[in-house]
Amino acid sequence: MNVAIITGITGQDGAYLSKLLLTKNYKIIGLLRNKTSLNLDKLNYLNITKKIIFENCDLNNLADIINIINKYKPNEIYNLASQSSVGLSFRNPLDTLNFNIFSTANILEAIKIIDKNIKFYQASSSEMFGSTNNLPFTEKSIFYPVSPYGISKASAHWITVNYRESFGLFTTSGILFNHESVLRGNNFIIKKIIKTSFDILKGKTEVLEVGNIDIKRDFGYAPKYVEAMYLMMQYEKPDDYIISSGVSLSIREIINYIFDKLNISRDKIVINEEFFRPNEIKNIYGNSFKAKEILKWNYEMSFYRVLDILIEEEKKLYE
Ligand code: NAP
Repeated sequence: MNVAIITGITGQDGAYLSKLLLTKNYKIIGLLRNKTSLNLDKLNYLNITKKIIFENCDLNNLADIINIINKYKPNEIYNLASQSSVGLSFRNPLDTLNFNIFSTANILEAIKIIDKNIKFYQASSSEMFGSTNNLPFTEKSIFYPVSPYGISKASAHWITVNYRESFGLFTTSGILFNHESVLRGNNFIIKKIIKTSFDILKGKTEVLEVGNIDIKRDFGYAPKYVEAMYLMMQYEKPDDYIISSGVSLSIREIINYIFDKLNISRDKIVINEEFFRPNEIKNIYGNSFKAKEILKWNYEMSFYRVLDILIEEEKKLYE
């Protein structure tokens, strides 16, 4: 039986990846930062909590990681844990840098010490490209991150590449563009727009307050994006892959689509400069040709179709 350790198992991707690996008969060990302040909502939503073995593990502590690896002898480790909010990273740069970089380095070091055959997946991010020009981004585009989050992810990405090239570890890095689902955290923009729309319809709130809605992002569907993580780990050779839809939409276009669909007046959009970031990527989209060609990852969904799915799922939460 394949054994996978997943960090960040309580997050959106951790939940969908666990569900996918369970269908493939993996034994899953989910690492938690703290069992006492545990939020299993996402795993409960997918009805898979009871099928996972949970362990507390401080990812900033090498000895903790070594103990877990020795105990479970995994074939694969998926490193999804991170302080994942760009906005929060500007307010809390030191924690973001410290955790996102050193947790990755610690896991890689533990693998190097214990068993170099353990495969490692790193959750890299399109935010690493930052203000780089020449869209669409490919695996060869350079990084110019513009947030502490992007910088932390770029550092963790290069550490991942370095352990592959210097020590021969099977380390693979998925450079994922934004991907959404009903399980996304409430502080992320797409979830916030949809959730607030239903709050407006239910009379729980008056307006949708947002920051700069003219930025454009390449959005996809989380359950399909985690399939790419799995495929990367099954391929014979470790590498880096862009996972994206290939199309960018502005936040304004997305709000208009959702408001029109739910019959909410556009007067309910309030721009609040407090939500503007000190630095912001204006437009970004990727080219996933390599993942489609080599991994046979298949993705054809328009983001408007994804929005239809998300609206339907959110609606059920309000019934
Ligand atoms: P998420 O929902 O925000 O989940 C983040 C996970 O990391 C949670 O399980 C959280 O645990 C854990 N975590 C945060 N800080 C931690 C700490 N100090 N110690 C231990 N665990 C900690 O993120 P996601 O959307 O699933 O994304 C998964 C990964 O992909 C992240 O690394 C993210 O940066 C990256 N990524 C995401 C996207 C996207 O669009 N979703 C795009 C590119 C890359 P708690 O439940 O305890 O808080």
